[in-house]
Amino acid sequence: MIDSHCHFDFEVFDDGRSETLQQCAAAGVDGVLIPGTHPGQWASLLALVAQPDLPCKLWAAVGWHPWWVADSNADVEREDHLNEHGFKERLAHHLGSSSVVAIGECGLDGSLDTPVDKQLPVFEWQLQLAEAFNLPLILHAHKAHNEVLQQLSRFKPAAGGVIHGFSGSLELAQQYWRLGFYLGVGGTITYERAKKTRRAIAGMPLDSLLLETDAPDMPLSGFQGQPNTPLRLPLVAQCLADLKELPLTEIQKQTDQNTRQIFALS
Ligand SMILES: [Zn+2]
Repeated sequence: MIDSHCHFDFEVFDDGRSETLQQCAAAGVDGVLIPGTHPGQWASLLALVAQPDLPCKLWAAVGWHPWWVADSNADVEREDHLNEHGFKERLAHHLGSSSVVAIGECGLDGSLDTPVDKQLPVFEWQLQLAEAFNLPLILHAHKAHNEVLQQLSRFKPAAGGVIHGFSGSLELAQQYWRLGFYLGVGGTITYERAKKTRRAIAGMPLDSLLLETDAPDMPLSGFQGQPNTPLRLPLVAQCLADLKELPLTEIQKQTDQNTRQIFALS
């Protein structure tokens, strides 16, 4: 199984990162895709995934996450504030690396203090680069699905991608799938109360689904209050098997194949 979305470069994993990778391999999690969050993180992320002889394969995406875009207006990247040209140049520089398999995490988030229209330009730059480099996108869409769908219909990114941590209705899931976007299935489906999302995921073809943890975020039901870990991916897979009333092996095999296909992983 591959964890298609895990912030494994975050500080919370600093103590015991290699042990966790060993445990992942033992638990059947043989690959982890780590999304980009902001330009200041890309170099260290690429150094992490390029380490030789890791027990578990790591890949990277580079991108600017809406939370960090919002932050940059305040403080985080003030000293290194990037305009369109500077940003694209820096991103394009990293897109040539063989461990970079996607652009993201990028998108729009309607729950932030920074309004969606202020986040939009940085998202558009990344959609343009996805087109130029023919790379898939890792999308973050929260309380802004209409705006994200509008941009996808406008840019029609040919290499598609994934709408990560999907939560929403069957109709919304189908809209993304029709535009060439897989649905990232994570801890949300482990909550009984997430009825709409569980129904949506149960109703979508297995061909359209990827497994993810979004660790250290999105704790699974029963693990609230603890940092999430890629070691919980098998529990997400089991929950998906129960929801779809399919054998666990079929879930593992098909989601692995989907992830390898969309990100052209070898
Ligand atoms: Zn994320």
